[in-house]
Amino acid sequence: NRIPRILILGAGYGGIITAQKLQKQLNYNEADVTLVSKHEYHYVTTHLHMPAAGTDDPQNAKVNILKLIDEFKIDFVKSTVQQIRPQEKKVILEDGTLSYDYLVIAMGGQPETFGIPGMKENAFFIRSLNAVNMIRAHIEYQFAKYKMEPHRQEYLTFVVGGAGFTGIEFVGELADRIPVLCRRYDVDPKLVKIYNVEAAPTALPGFDPELVQYGVKVLENKGVQFKIGIAVKECHPDHVVLADGEVIKTRTVVWTGGIRGNQMIEDAGFEVMRGRVKVDEHLRVSGNDNVYVIGDNALVFNEENRPYPPTAQIAMQMGINCAHNLVASIRGGQLKPFQPQIKGTVASLGKGSAIGVVGKRKLKGWTAVQMKKIIDNRWLFTIGGISLVLRKGRFFS
Ligand code: FAD
Ligand code: NAD
Repeated sequence: NRIPRILILGAGYGGIITAQKLQKQLNYNEADVTLVSKHEYHYVTTHLHMPAAGTDDPQNAKVNILKLIDEFKIDFVKSTVQQIRPQEKKVILEDGTLSYDYLVIAMGGQPETFGIPGMKENAFFIRSLNAVNMIRAHIEYQFAKYKMEPHRQEYLTFVVGGAGFTGIEFVGELADRIPVLCRRYDVDPKLVKIYNVEAAPTALPGFDPELVQYGVKVLENKGVQFKIGIAVKECHPDHVVLADGEVIKTRTVVWTGGIRGNQMIEDAGFEVMRGRVKVDEHLRVSGNDNVYVIGDNALVFNEENRPYPPTAQIAMQMGINCAHNLVASIRGGQLKPFQPQIKGTVASLGKGSAIGVVGKRKLKGWTAVQMKKIIDNRWLFTIGGISLVLRKGRFFS
């Protein structure tokens, strides 16, 4: 009998946990496990708003994958997946082909631009470490350019489309970064504008209204201007057009209007809703019992038949469940249904403030900031133990 081959695509929140749990739970020669990811490092997606704004070193969001897995137990392949062919049980990489018996798709989502004209082409997206390095460098470059062409104040106007958690966390960091850049480039801070445009009637739609109000106030005090209940309609290289007709001149649009599933999943022929696969209770694609989809690409519904939002906490729990089910499948054991446990949500508002709900408790200000650090450090601890926390963690201040 041939040893079954497990192929994991993506080393983000879902993929890295699946690999780590498999390496712990599988016995010698029970399965060949291969992890494929685009970069030789895992990036902590939930930290990306900070290096994007330039308030944190990108190194802090970057962990070498070979430090997280045991190479004797898991093969790591640094490559980009180009196509998934479920009929042939093959995955096409940029530089080769891998076949599998079991597949785990954990490649994360991609920005949803809702077909807004010019958005894909002209906006920036908080998506990967390389993408946020570009945002940080671009923002700083606008200050340098302004000094050369001081009649062009639009260089100092920054538009963030979408006031969901990503948009809110990013504007919080950006507002903290502006004073530093103003000092560095000798620019009057009054000339800098940060707009956060949100189509829904409130920022952070669906979140606790009292905390939203508090968060918006904190950000306004830092200089963020909200435009709520107004959609971004068009995005051009030098301006955006809003639904109320307003035109904002800018060279920097950061789109945080939502995410959808990875296009490759749809291309593989799986049935999708906004690019995500409605997985069965064991996280498998219906009709493809050997294919698991986890993280941002998986659609799981709660008791009220509403989809769970794509979050790191769910991606991680899915990874644990998926590893268990893979081991059970190989051993002919019992699969476990996935039951998400939502512990809460804490969002940062830049330095010194945050908002969150943990269990039934509402948190804001300093307490919420400390809770956010605990959550961030817990992830580092889970994947890399105390030494990773000491190297990349955040501590009380
Ligand atoms: P990801 O973590 O995105 O990982 C995908 C992996 O696949 C990456 O390693 C990538 O390199 C790899 N990959 C992608 N395409 C390919 C390819 N073609 N070939 C090979 N490899 C590929 N959620 C929370 O619960 N709490 C938070 O505080 C929070 N904060 C966030 C802050 C920001 C700024 C952002 C953007 C998101 C935040 N989220 C948060 C959401 C959370 O990050 C995602 O839900 C989570 O990362 C999804 O995990 P995943 O495993 O599906 O994908
Ligand atoms: P999102 O879908 O949660 O928010 C996108 C926002 O953009 C929405 O409020 C939407 O109304 C708005 N929008 C859409 N089209 C628009 C338009 N044309 N003009 C203006 N606004 C528009 O997306 P996100 O914020 O990227 O979050 C993605 C996932 O990651 C969510 O599940 C979120 O919970 C999670 N996340 C969590 C945290 C945290 O827990 N701290 C931080 C970041 C992200």
